[in-house]
Amino acid sequence: MNFGYLEDCLDHDTGDGHPESADRLPAIRDALVESTGIGYSAPPPAELERILAVHDREYVEAFKKFCARGGGRWDADTVASTGTWEAALASAGLSEWAGQAALAGKDGNDTPFALGRPPGHHALVDDAMGFCFFNNIAVGTQSALDVGGAERVAIIDWDVHHGNGTQEIFYDRDDVFYISLHEDDIYPGTGAVEETGEDAGEHTTMNVPLPPGVTSSAYLTAMEVAVYPALEAFDPDLLYVSAGFDAHEHDPISRMAVSTEGFGRLAGAIRTLGDELDAGVAFTLEGGYGLDTLPDCVQMVNEVFGGYDPVSEDRVLSATVEQLLDDVRAQGYPGV
Ligand SMILES: [Zn+2]
Repeated sequence: MNFGYLEDCLDHDTGDGHPESADRLPAIRDALVESTGIGYSAPPPAELERILAVHDREYVEAFKKFCARGGGRWDADTVASTGTWEAALASAGLSEWAGQAALAGKDGNDTPFALGRPPGHHALVDDAMGFCFFNNIAVGTQSALDVGGAERVAIIDWDVHHGNGTQEIFYDRDDVFYISLHEDDIYPGTGAVEETGEDAGEHTTMNVPLPPGVTSSAYLTAMEVAVYPALEAFDPDLLYVSAGFDAHEHDPISRMAVSTEGFGRLAGAIRTLGDELDAGVAFTLEGGYGLDTLPDCVQMVNEVFGGYDPVSEDRVLSATVEQLLDDVRAQGYPGV
């Protein structure tokens, strides 16, 4: 894959002990050193005009001043530092780059993946929340429509949390289909099945709030049953993935059970969908807080776009369990 990366994203300092730490990005880069088929791009940060295409001017100016004054807590868990303003522009610029590259036909080993932070999908039109300041994928989506030549964009958000900001921004729009697969009943509390869009945007929002504990098989079933047919009908030019990896079984902040291979299966489903719909595919990093698992998952997505075919958790589990039971039987119990 081709990874968008800008050093400015490291200057967003969330302080000691915050899960969304600057260490996430170097950890991913270190892991990717071992991978093949990697390229890097350093696109320019987003222009203010592109941010204002989806965010309220008053909010953007308040955020800029907040950073200039040294930052601090915007809310209980959303923290900014002086460098956050530049980091947020860089992160949005990376997302724009990914969308434009996909629309220009970059695929296979050249599929774009924006490695930016702060993440974006909780950022509302006029407020920051949930570690997010600018809604990177929304900025990228609007740019894809305004200057990238796309007529319709589909956003698939597999971060474990509902992307309430992205949903809000495009809720009444018929040119953007927002689909979220998230854990039910956790932060931020939105994303019910009944939230389907409004006015012209009716049926271009889809929420699949999955129960805690599911593996990638549940996600794949949801894709097959609901996402594929809906997007076939919608016919997007671009599939934009809000790629959070906090549904990983070892992520510190969720109760989902998606394995590293499982994320590979999700990536494979996206790749197939992009091929079938003849749509570009672009990835933008959202959450994912395990400093071991996050890099492994990004590496796995890269391998899938290089041709690797991942296995399901269920197959891993059943093979392991079968072996275990063979071992139990081999102990020679009478009757077993
Ligand atoms: Zn998340």
